[in-house]
Amino acid sequence: MTTTHTFDVIILGAGSVGTPAAFYLAQAGFKVLVLESVASVGQGSNKRAIGGVRATHSDPAKMQLCSRSLEIFSTFKENFGNDIEWDRCGYAYVAYTEREEKTLKSLLPTHQRAGIRNDWYDAADYLKLIPDLNPDGLIGGTFSPDDGSASPLLVNHAYYTHACALGAEFHFSEQVIGLQVEGGRITAVKTTRDTYAAAVVLNAAGAWAAQIGKLADIDLPIHPDSHEAAITEPVARFLGPMVVDIRPAPGSTNYYFYQHITGQIIFCITPDPNAWGFNVSETSSFLPMVSRRMLEVMPRLSNLRVRRTWRGLYPMTPDGFPVIGWSKEVTNLLLGIGFCGQGFMLGPSSGELLTRLVQGQTTPADQAILPLLAPDRVFSGQELLK
Ligand SMILES: Cc1cc2nc3c(=O)[nH]c(=O)nc-3n(C[C@H](O)[C@H](O)[C@H](O)COP(=O)(O)OP(=O)(O)OC[C@H]3O[C@@H](n4cnc5c(N)ncnc54)[C@H](O)[C@@H]3O)c2cc1C
Repeated sequence: MTTTHTFDVIILGAGSVGTPAAFYLAQAGFKVLVLESVASVGQGSNKRAIGGVRATHSDPAKMQLCSRSLEIFSTFKENFGNDIEWDRCGYAYVAYTEREEKTLKSLLPTHQRAGIRNDWYDAADYLKLIPDLNPDGLIGGTFSPDDGSASPLLVNHAYYTHACALGAEFHFSEQVIGLQVEGGRITAVKTTRDTYAAAVVLNAAGAWAAQIGKLADIDLPIHPDSHEAAITEPVARFLGPMVVDIRPAPGSTNYYFYQHITGQIIFCITPDPNAWGFNVSETSSFLPMVSRRMLEVMPRLSNLRVRRTWRGLYPMTPDGFPVIGWSKEVTNLLLGIGFCGQGFMLGPSSGELLTRLVQGQTTPADQAILPLLAPDRVFSGQELLK
């Protein structure tokens, strides 16, 4: 493979992670090319995300990265000039059994130590916050007022336009089909149209990241896991926060829903067992399962009409945490993959972190979390708040 098209960084995939990374790398002065197999940005998992953004995780890496992403999302309008439909609605984890109460309360000291506001409310006070919750059996719940939601596609498109303004090139409908590796480095990136070279190649191919790994003859532990979501007709605003119920039930683990600023209820469920594979055809089992569970917690939703369902892919890792760091096998291959169900919220801060990795300028705070995200870690941990 020979090429005259040379860049500092080639990013594979213009999704939740690749597009913000393109912006931050271009802002840092790098000559950036983004290769995307489909016709525009955000058409992979990005546009299928429901837009939830929270710092209230159970591990230091996601708490740190999402706290930074929250700063970026909440000031996006002032700093970038784009309306991304940011809504500081907060997250509410409800507890109807002692198991959830114990789990949720056990995380509060961790959040407080990390400077993340999250408080426990007993049932009576919780109902003042979310009056439409079913009071039967309600013990209480947590509320984190600084979490919120934004539009994944608006964010992705905003980063795309700003990256282009800084000189980043995006090539759409151009799939990466080959990587030439010589002496442990990628020396050429081959697409359906051309061949390119760069000092650094960033794999940001989401659920397809392992296929990119295969092109360089390495195994990446990323598996597509299919999740379904839906949106109702819009109604007058009655619900503040994102409501999350982490009780397991037959066929599902947690589910969550919120009312968008334009009035629609948007919701999702985590299937149990996982629905592995690339199939994104909608199912007939999702809507009855999730709506039954949502009505149990909020009977007022019963007359809402569902307008649309869709299905997309979580790029899963065995431990539920992303992979951010340099490949050990191919030295100029940077990995920004395995963002599971949180790639939209992690995208902006991960784009900044990936840029610092390319610059060789990671901070002590980065260095504290990078081992937790390392490509060669033992994938044995499990997060508490999925
Ligand atoms: C129903 C649902 C709800 C979700 N809700 C949330 C949420 O509320 N909050 C949240 O943070 N996350 C949420 N997510 C998860 C989120 O969508 C993903 O974690 C995130 O989009 C992954 O980002 P990514 O950049 O890794 O992948 P993507 O956004 O999928 O981007 C990868 C890109 O790589 C491209 N690509 C792949 N192979 C190639 C190739 N060979 N050549 C060129 N290009 C290639 C793809 O076309 C794609 O555009 C949700 C996901 C689903 C399905």
